[in-house]
Amino acid sequence: MKQSATASAITLLVEERFACLDSVEDLAELVESMREVARLEATEQEKRHNPLAIAQPDCTKGCSTCCYTLVETMPAEVVALVAWLEQTLATEDLDRLRRRVESADRTTRGLTERQRGGAGVACPMLVDDACSIYAERPLDCEAYQSSDVRACEAAIPNYDFDEIPVIQPRYNAYEWVRVRFGAEIERAGVDGQTVEFIAALQIALTTENLFDRWSAGERVFAPAHITSPPH
Ligand code: SF4
Ligand code: SF4
Repeated sequence: MKQSATASAITLLVEERFACLDSVEDLAELVESMREVARLEATEQEKRHNPLAIAQPDCTKGCSTCCYTLVETMPAEVVALVAWLEQTLATEDLDRLRRRVESADRTTRGLTERQRGGAGVACPMLVDDACSIYAERPLDCEAYQSSDVRACEAAIPNYDFDEIPVIQPRYNAYEWVRVRFGAEIERAGVDGQTVEFIAALQIALTTENLFDRWSAGERVFAPAHITSPPH
């Protein structure tokens, strides 16, 4: 699929789904579709490169340095994720998660992107050095792969992403799809801006009637908006 075809597919998906977005389950389906589009787009981008020129990822389970820096997401992902957490986690696990999010948010709220990126604060979803929401993690996390873990360990604490050998076709494809989805959601009159993950989680976990308010166009996530490219 060429990027123009992918762009049309995204426009159509958002238009169709937002015309009848009645429940958080509908939203979860849209977010899943977004993941599928991103995976397809990444495969297409990789096909356009010489396979020998694409490095292999050094990422393994338990390698979590990148879970200590800023994660970009969008409200649609966070609304769907928090609904899923509320439906699937036991009460005590959800309470523990709420406390981790609240504590991380207290440390990071108000920091600039660079300060947040280099603050060394763990993502509240990181448990025993592994992502506790792996299949539901933000697109930004799924996108990010590096071919050199040592470069990650040296660069991430300084928020120096230029020094990390990211698997570029994959990352570019995912980011392009995410930003495109966000723009289409904005066109539908709903907040689709990029947000910082921890601040957005804290907002989502403490806002009553979140899905109704966000899908009606209320900008409840405004305090978590990232307004300039962080890197
Ligand atoms: S991006 Fe870097 S820190 Fe993150 S899992 Fe991959 S190698 Fe590890
Ligand atoms: S959501 Fe998962 S993969 Fe992403 S930063 Fe948090 S723990 Fe890491």
